[in-house]
Amino acid sequence: MDCLFCRIVSGEIPATLVRETDTTLAFRDITPKAASHILVITKEHYADVATLAQADAKLAGEVLETAAIVAEHEGLVADGFRVIFNTGEYAGQEVSHVHAHVLGGEPLGPMLAK
Ligand code: AMP
Ligand code: ZN
Repeated sequence: MDCLFCRIVSGEIPATLVRETDTTLAFRDITPKAASHILVITKEHYADVATLAQADAKLAGEVLETAAIVAEHEGLVADGFRVIFNTGEYAGQEVSHVHAHVLGGEPLGPMLAK
C-alpha cells in the first residue's frame, strides 16, 4: 500500500484526527495554509473527487457532510471558510487520494494566487 492517506486510514502513519465516521476521516493538515486547515478523506481509496463523485455520489456527499460538521466544530461558519478539492496536475494535487481541504479561521485572500 503506497498511498499516504490509505496509510493514515490504517493507522500506519499518525495524524491528528478531528472527526471519524464509518466512511470518512478528518485530520489536521501537516503544513497548515490557514489558521484552521483540515483534510477530509474517504476511508476507501479514490484517486480524486471526480472519480469519487461518479463512482459513489452518496459517499461524495458524506465527505461534504463531514467537511461541514468540521467547519462548524472549528468555529469557521460565522466568518466563512473555503473547501477545496485539488484535482489533477494543473490543480497541483500532490496526494492521489481524494481529500477536501477545509480552510478558515482568518481571511483567506483571493481564490487563486495569480
Ligand atoms: P494536495 O496538494 O491537494 O494533494 O494536498 C495534499 C495535502 O496533504 C497538503 O496540504 C499537505 O500539507 C498534506 N499532507 C501531506 N502529508 C501529510 C500528513 N502526513 N498528514 C497530514 N497532512 C499531510
Ligand atoms: Zn489511498
